[in-house]
Amino acid sequence: MVILTVAAVVTYSNIFNPKKHDDHHKAASHKEHHAPEPAAPPPAKSSHSEEKPCCDEAKCNEKKEEEKPCCDAEKCKEEKKECKEDCKKSDCKKEEGKSEEKQHHDNEKPSTSGSGSGATEDEPKSSSSEGKAHSEKIPDHVPYLMIGGGTASYYAAIAVRGKEAEAKVLIIGDEPSVPYNRPPLSKELWWYADPKSRDTLEYINVSGKRRDIFLESDGWFVPTGEISKASHGGVSLLKNHRVKRIDTKSKKVHLDDGRTIRYDKLLIATGGRPRKLKELQNADGLVRKKIVYLRDVPDYQKLEDICNESDTKRITEIGDGLLGTELAYSIKRKYPKLDVHQVIKGSGNLPNILPKELSELAKFELESNGVKIHSNAKIQGAESGKDGRAILKVSGEDLESDAIVVAIGIEPNVKLAKDAGLKIDPENGGILADSELQAAEDVYVAGDVASYEDSRLGRRRAEHWNHAEITGRLAGANMTGTKTKFWYQGMFFTKLASKLHVSAVGQTDSKLDTVAVCSKESEKQGGAKKCVVFYKEKDGKLVGVLMLNMFGPAIDVARRLIDDKVKVTSPTELAKLFPLYEAETPEKEDQKKEEK
Ligand SMILES: Cc1cc2nc3c(=O)[nH]c(=O)nc-3n(C[C@H](O)[C@H](O)[C@H](O)COP(=O)(O)OP(=O)(O)OC[C@H]3O[C@@H](n4cnc5c(N)ncnc54)[C@H](O)[C@@H]3O)c2cc1C
Repeated sequence: MVILTVAAVVTYSNIFNPKKHDDHHKAASHKEHHAPEPAAPPPAKSSHSEEKPCCDEAKCNEKKEEEKPCCDAEKCKEEKKECKEDCKKSDCKKEEGKSEEKQHHDNEKPSTSGSGSGATEDEPKSSSSEGKAHSEKIPDHVPYLMIGGGTASYYAAIAVRGKEAEAKVLIIGDEPSVPYNRPPLSKELWWYADPKSRDTLEYINVSGKRRDIFLESDGWFVPTGEISKASHGGVSLLKNHRVKRIDTKSKKVHLDDGRTIRYDKLLIATGGRPRKLKELQNADGLVRKKIVYLRDVPDYQKLEDICNESDTKRITEIGDGLLGTELAYSIKRKYPKLDVHQVIKGSGNLPNILPKELSELAKFELESNGVKIHSNAKIQGAESGKDGRAILKVSGEDLESDAIVVAIGIEPNVKLAKDAGLKIDPENGGILADSELQAAEDVYVAGDVASYEDSRLGRRRAEHWNHAEITGRLAGANMTGTKTKFWYQGMFFTKLASKLHVSAVGQTDSKLDTVAVCSKESEKQGGAKKCVVFYKEKDGKLVGVLMLNMFGPAIDVARRLIDDKVKVTSPTELAKLFPLYEAETPEKEDQKKEEK
């Protein structure tokens, strides 16, 4: 990496530390350091899951008698049949493709209790309807079906409706709430929370406005039992249900309660689940209770509860990436009295994104905010301590912890697609799709789970909110026949310390050749160091831009430069397009308010 420090807008001065990353740093990656661990035990079941279906569906399915589940659990229950392990379809037969519609699906207040995301891809969340009786009407058929109740599906549904005003869309999600934004779970709900935020999931933003995490209210969705007959169409949401199987030939999905729904066009937007840490795989029961993998609302609530307990002293966070780093900052910011530790495998934070010097700067900033960082650390395991705390063993040191937060990346949820015969990208790990986000005939993908062809940057998979929105919108439009190729690069934004805002667009991989241009002006005035980092291909063409402590529309400039395949021949000239020297901006004002 090269860092150019410029003193003022007209002066391009001293180049320092022009050496590239050392090979060791280049080779470092999450995957190499933290291999995924085998499945954790199934999560505790909710009271609903006490209800047993009349036959053991799993056992029956094992026998692979037929494509569909062996019997209709609800019908069996009505008939007061015994639970059978060796049931045959004739015991309790359901007409092919016909949904049993018993009871109206009531609109309800967004509820978010569930199992948390520690489950493996196959394990149902406790809120899901695996093996339960049907509780709501569903259509036999929908023109547009979206699997996964997250950001990508939501925006795909919006795009479909934008193209076809009367389209009928059904989203199936295994969480108990309407689609919501995950970023506040590690940011706003810690920074701008009020005492009720844990339950209301609301916060006051920098402009003083009350916000919540939800993308829509419950009432926005058409009840699932009414979508077929809705004369102007709409978007329905089937919550608490997992899709267990996709049959792309008969264009049908199988739900966890045995029912099936036919579709014309299908979107798979199943997101990802937190990668497990193999070093904690054999940890005892107490330690496992102290581990938090942050992906969904119950995970956030578990962590918030631990931080709130009067005898909680220390939170230890494992992982040097975006989520781990911002979470360490957020916890320390909300709970300054807590001892917050972060365990990282190298010498700095965000090593997969930031060039080495800036990665070490990030570590410094975080430490300045009170987070204790254990760098070049090796995790050796964990055991329970005498007073009910977990002891994390790190490079020969014992870290007694009230919670061990593991944030070492995600695994895309591809099993459903793989079982349906769709191809999986062996390198990036997502469902293989073309530049129109199409994975098979009438099947599209979006969000964290999509591996797609980007005509500018090649085959990629990205795990960012804005990317989920962009690919969701694109896939939705293409499901209606638009046939547009991926072209608009998603961006991400985060705050990792009081003087460390990061926003970036394109390919920001620290293994690429990078050059950073930094200004000392802001620092001299007591502000944060400002830098713009250019990521280059071998031929010098720009593929990514990262801005440190800069705001405003410059991200669109960066996007344009990447699209135009600009060559980074004079980084300091290029840097003039970015607000390295700008005085106060409204965002800066906001930042000040935040810091107060
Ligand atoms: C705590 C946190 C903070 C983040 N902060 C940022 C940030 O600051 N900036 C940023 O750019 N990105 C951030 N991200 C990442 C961003 O939230 C994701 O990239 C985005 O949510 C991806 O959207 P998605 O729709 O692809 O997947 P998801 O949001 O994961 O949604 C997929 C949904 O599908 C469900 N599902 C899976 N399988 C099935 C099935 N078989 N049947 C039914 N439902 C199923 C899942 O349970 C989930 O509800 C953050 C993520 C987390 C967890």
